Amino acid sequence: MAKITINREKCKGCLLCVNVCPKGSIKQGKSLNSKGAKAVEFRENAECLGCMMCAVICPDCCIEVYK
Ligand code: SF4
Ligand code: SF4
Repeated sequence: MAKITINREKCKGCLLCVNVCPKGSIKQGKSLNSKGAKAVEFRENAECLGCMMCAVICPDCCIEVYK
């Protein structure tokens, strides 16, 4: 199965990736990063299709996809 990594310190919490994921696998986290943003997280036990939509839409290149 594919998986992603999220650079939480670079994330500005814009939620574009949350809204674009076809599986709803990314969610907003609860804690703030050093930018004062609520960085996103991959949902526990969620499915990733490896579609790369999240990585492509992220304006700050915070997400990498591994297939
Ligand atoms: S690669 Fe696709 S399925 Fe996987 S987390 Fe990103 S948008 Fe969702
Ligand atoms: S699109 Fe990028 S900057 Fe925006 S919430 Fe997702 S990972 Fe963070």
